[in-house]
Amino acid sequence: MANKEYTKEDLTVLWDSSKCIHSGIWAKGLPEVFKPKDRPWVQMENSDSESIAEQVRKCPSGALSIK
Ligand code: SF4
Repeated sequence: MANKEYTKEDLTVLWDSSKCIHSGIWAKGLPEVFKPKDRPWVQMENSDSESIAEQVRKCPSGALSIK
């Protein structure tokens, strides 16, 4: 079950920590949005919805998903 939600106008990203395998793919692919060292570490305002959604789809574990 997702334990974090990140939203911008038309997009809600869910993160389920129990599924995350810490691949780091998200930060490598869209570092302006996915910032593991920052809080919040998902900054949806830093990119457009399509780019974020595209990166979310690359998560290998399904920890990241789109609502
Ligand atoms: S891409 Fe998915 S598995 Fe990799 S660190 Fe991010 S949430 Fe975790």
